[in-house]
Amino acid sequence: MKNKHTQFNLKLYYSTVIVVMALMLLGLFADNPLLHHPGPGYITHGVLVFFFSICLLIYPIFKSHVFRIIIIVVASTYFYTIFFIYPNTWSNFLFLCFIPAISILFFDTKLFYLSLLLNTLSVIGLFSYVAFVDRGDLFPYISEDLIGNSINFLGSQAILYFIFYLSYGRLEKQKLYYEQIKQTERLKTTGQLAAAVAHEIRNPLTVVKGFLQLYEKETTYKENNKRHYSLLIDELNTAEQVISQFLSIAKPDKDTELELVNVKSVLQSVTDLLNTYGLLHDNEIVLNMVEDCYIAANTIEFKQLIINIIKNALEASKDGDSVVVTAESEKDWVKINVTDFGHGMSKEEIDSLGTPFYSLKSKGTGLGMMICFNIATKYKGTIHFDSEKGKGTTVTIEFPATQMG
Ligand code: ADP
Ligand code: MG
Repeated sequence: MKNKHTQFNLKLYYSTVIVVMALMLLGLFADNPLLHHPGPGYITHGVLVFFFSICLLIYPIFKSHVFRIIIIVVASTYFYTIFFIYPNTWSNFLFLCFIPAISILFFDTKLFYLSLLLNTLSVIGLFSYVAFVDRGDLFPYISEDLIGNSINFLGSQAILYFIFYLSYGRLEKQKLYYEQIKQTERLKTTGQLAAAVAHEIRNPLTVVKGFLQLYEKETTYKENNKRHYSLLIDELNTAEQVISQFLSIAKPDKDTELELVNVKSVLQSVTDLLNTYGLLHDNEIVLNMVEDCYIAANTIEFKQLIINIIKNALEASKDGDSVVVTAESEKDWVKINVTDFGHGMSKEEIDSLGTPFYSLKSKGTGLGMMICFNIATKYKGTIHFDSEKGKGTTVTIEFPATQMG
């Protein structure tokens, strides 16, 4: 696709160059007052037409910054020369005003500013020449209203600057967009590949784990040899967990059904489930919820999201602290807050959340938050973190509310 794009541009470029060359040749030969008795001025004009054409024709081969500067210099020399050779053609002055426009075509910021500066300095020089040396002899249309001409010139430069500023901004945005699309495509392919690999790895792991469990129970083996079995099984469990979590992210969207999810009953069942887990470190989960609210999502996935976030809150908490879960409807949104009083996160840590395998825990998988963000995005929800190091964290989860029935 990219190749086609560049080929198209090249075609357009050469068509434009041919038009420009045809116009320059017309200027040189069509009813040119100097054609009948060509002097040094006319020859210079011809030589410059030749050089400028060659530069434009070979530009696509080099495309370098230096070559762009050369084009601007040759173009400036060309336009200033014809301005002096043909003093009666007042419209040549227009070309001088628009010389910086050439660098807009190259989308080169530095070159544009350089060209704007050089052109302004050259026009100041030119106006001084007209005012003090020529004194309206050859260029009466400039010297008669020097101030007006200066203002017009500055105005034209301002317009050029404006055009450049707007089109450059748009181009940058497009570039960014293109990069994002490329990145998404890359992620999609690598994701599919990784999912296939993960799936293939899971089967041999299960077999190895099964045999290890069998050997662990085998009484004929020496205890000394069995020492490492539980460690091996633990490690295999972690690997299995990572793979299952990963596969749940890579699962295609069409596998999940949209349902009316009762937020209150999901939160109730999740807190009941995790309270047992919290008991390990004497942590309690307090659920404050008055009204029933509903969202459109998949119940299992929504549960998975809440479990991951409450689990993180419990794991960040000190022994004996509680985790507070509140939920309420606010206008068209259902807002769930999970607050802990644990070790909190710095701004950099918050920014890293959702990055695959980002975990500060010795036994963490670093996939929990990535799963949560995926689920939230899928059902048009958002997750927001407010955290202070050493004080605690409040996670705010918001989903569009759906009315019952
Ligand atoms: P895991 O829990 O497996 O480490 P997650 O993606 O769930 O992976 O979380 C990534 C990291 O984010 C955690 O390791 C932890 O450092 C940080 N984190 C997440 N939630 C909290 C929280 N409530 N308080 C402090 N740190 C948190
Ligand atoms: Mg986690």
